[in-house]
Amino acid sequence: MDPTLVRLGLLGEQEGAGSGSARRCRGKLLEVVSPIDLQIIGRIRTAGVEDYEAVAGAAAGAFDAWAAVPAPKRGDIVRRIGDLLRAHKRELAEIIALETGKILPEAEGEVQEMIDMADFAVGLSRMLYGKTMPSERPGHRLYEQWLPLGPVGVITAFNFPLAVWAWNAWIALVCGNTVAWKPSSKAALSAVAVMKLIWPLFKECGLPEGVLNLAVGERSAVGERLIHDRRLPLISATGSVAMGRRVAQAVAARLGRTILELGGNNAVIVAPSADLDLAVRAVLFGAVGTAGQRCTTTRRAIVHREIYRPFCDALTAAYRRLRIGNPLEAGIDMGPLIDRGAVRAMQDALARLKDQGGRVLYGGEPLYGGTYAAGTYVVPCLAEAAPGLPIVREETFAPILYLMPYGSIDEAIAFQNAVPQGLSSAIFTNDLREAERFLSHQGSDCGIANVNSGTSGAEIGGAFGGEKETGGGREAGSDAWKAYMRRQTCTVNRSQELPLSQGIEFAIT
Ligand code: NAD
Repeated sequence: MDPTLVRLGLLGEQEGAGSGSARRCRGKLLEVVSPIDLQIIGRIRTAGVEDYEAVAGAAAGAFDAWAAVPAPKRGDIVRRIGDLLRAHKRELAEIIALETGKILPEAEGEVQEMIDMADFAVGLSRMLYGKTMPSERPGHRLYEQWLPLGPVGVITAFNFPLAVWAWNAWIALVCGNTVAWKPSSKAALSAVAVMKLIWPLFKECGLPEGVLNLAVGERSAVGERLIHDRRLPLISATGSVAMGRRVAQAVAARLGRTILELGGNNAVIVAPSADLDLAVRAVLFGAVGTAGQRCTTTRRAIVHREIYRPFCDALTAAYRRLRIGNPLEAGIDMGPLIDRGAVRAMQDALARLKDQGGRVLYGGEPLYGGTYAAGTYVVPCLAEAAPGLPIVREETFAPILYLMPYGSIDEAIAFQNAVPQGLSSAIFTNDLREAERFLSHQGSDCGIANVNSGTSGAEIGGAFGGEKETGGGREAGSDAWKAYMRRQTCTVNRSQELPLSQGIEFAIT
């Protein structure tokens, strides 16, 4: 019996939905299986249709009361949530690691990200600034203000089961919105655990039920209802491009808003002037961190011909030293993939790579027996592939890194941009001209572009998101909050005249 499950009260059947406390659900039973050893670590009674309706109704019902709380006071609630997370950082990280197989330091980083996001949102709650513009009409004031939008639907992926929700939820809360969250069924125990921690705080503060809502459930009972739900003016969805396409169409059909955070296919360019050691370290973490299951995972390394061999040799040597195993144990660099299906998808991608003329340089094989008995562990793969291969244009959610040599910076940037996705990108160079070119409109076409820093591991202070098939959404820092609010442009006339804009004369004689 895992002591963390005991401490967080996760033994026994859990309810998968609620609006301030858990409700007795009527959906199917979900068995939560750890990818570490395929043991069942929890059971969740998921939301049925009526449970979803109750939860979404609660989110809509609580909106007016929550929006009426002054923004800095809403910020103070988020500050207290941040304190709770600080106090339970280790336990939450352990649940994330158990459920997703990510190594503990990364899982702790995920909880830290939630805490950082809370701090950011607290400050933001006093800075939801609108502009005042000079009016062209005498005695008039023209300004804009930002108002709460409504209940926000949040859909999250398995690989960041809590942080992505926190990016959305803390910002939505300080903006005056309530939140209805549908987590991935592959990582729903973390969601249940965090709600159990946070809900009592709302009660303690005398707030109504329905501000933070949860609905774990099947696509038919929860997912599809959420995206079609007219009570939710904004759907923020994180996951695959296929899911984003579906969500975008459903929400657009009712003229709702979306924030889409979809798949990436991120590349690092390594130029001849690069600090090779720095580049190898960044590519290593970018490619094998979270076992290659980050949206910002480095999937392609575009390396100048002159340094291609030494770079590949140094990276292969680093791959050989990786310790693969139980992510809860100290000293492990890479845990399992999320399930056996992900291992099969990786094998399938490697078979297609070979069919298309690519070549495996190192690793790629599944691991079996002993620690690896679950059949979810793999050796991360280094492969050589021409940039135009169909498999290289796809995001395979596993640790496969495609290496490809380049000759000129023009060619490197063309290779980098020649995929449908546009999330994160990086160049390692000490050549100022190359770096500036990469950061110009003639450079990377991604939402994130870094110089001498890898593709993976964004800070929360910047707006996070990508272009092209990555969906165009932005979350977390900078002014991403504006997507969660309703902008209103206001004109106030303190004169006794009624001048029309553009000088139009309209007088009835
Ligand atoms: P997924 O698309 O399988 O699922 C994501 C979420 O969408 C889950 O909660 C799922 O239940 C839900 N969903 C699927 N179809 C739906 C529908 N029709 N209606 C409503 N909800 C639906 O993705 P995954 O395997 O959980 O996560 C991996 C993917 O997520 C990768 O492509 C990765 O790049 C992407 N991702 C992107 C970001 C980002 O910020 N850009 C962050 C994390 C993960």
